[in-house]
Amino acid sequence: MSRIICFFIKIFLEYILLYAKFKKYTTKLCSKYFHFVKICDIIQSMEKRCIVVENKKVEYFLSRKNIKNINMRISSACSLSISAPRRTTINQVEELIVSKIDWIKKTQARFREINIKRETSNSVYFLGEKYLLCFIESKFEDIKIEGQDIKVYAGDEKRARKIYDKWLRDYAQNHLTKITNKYYDKISKYVSIPMPEVEIRKMRARWGTCTPSKRKITYNLALAKTPEQCIEYVILHELTHFKHIYHNENFYNFVATFMPDWKERKILLDREYGTVV
Ligand SMILES: [Zn+2]
Repeated sequence: MSRIICFFIKIFLEYILLYAKFKKYTTKLCSKYFHFVKICDIIQSMEKRCIVVENKKVEYFLSRKNIKNINMRISSACSLSISAPRRTTINQVEELIVSKIDWIKKTQARFREINIKRETSNSVYFLGEKYLLCFIESKFEDIKIEGQDIKVYAGDEKRARKIYDKWLRDYAQNHLTKITNKYYDKISKYVSIPMPEVEIRKMRARWGTCTPSKRKITYNLALAKTPEQCIEYVILHELTHFKHIYHNENFYNFVATFMPDWKERKILLDREYGTVV
């Protein structure tokens, strides 16, 4: 009798296991499907158009959304994207492009310049210095800075890149947290929040963001590639948002109290690495 009970218990458990596996699989599949549908929607709603301004072709991607205002954005690859409310006419969009043409040209030119300074597969920037990323085949894994070389010891090149990426991320997390602590100590008596949590992420258009409600500052991983004085400026800038939300006179006066040369640092960051803060 007990053997029969055991048999049914076993069948029951196997059924539960199978059901759990199936559910996990279908959930994964569903989320992938919805993600795919979302991407298709974005691509479908995007329209590539062209306008001639001052005898020059200006290409742009237009997408219509449920928004109130027309937004303009230039990606680091220099492409111009415009999102507009659904009822906006092409004339309205193109009038805006014409009125902003100087800004568009200037921003695209700056990105073009920055793209020249971009990293290649074996030359990287670290704290404002250019280094050669050298892969050395080895049974043990390690990473060392020697002169202008960052030497990565690994089994193969793919693994070496992973080691370098992790090393840069860990470095950014430790280093940027340390400097945030240093500047937080300086400004702590003027702000009412405790030391914020520091997060490092790859970001396309910003050096940093701060979320006062979550007591969190997020820095772009690429900040670790810029010189120390630029890193300090971005950190103080983000911390200042805990005192002044907007970029107004009070905001910059507060920054200047702790960093009188903030303008030079910002210019260096804008000129060499792009305006993103
Ligand atoms: Zn800001």
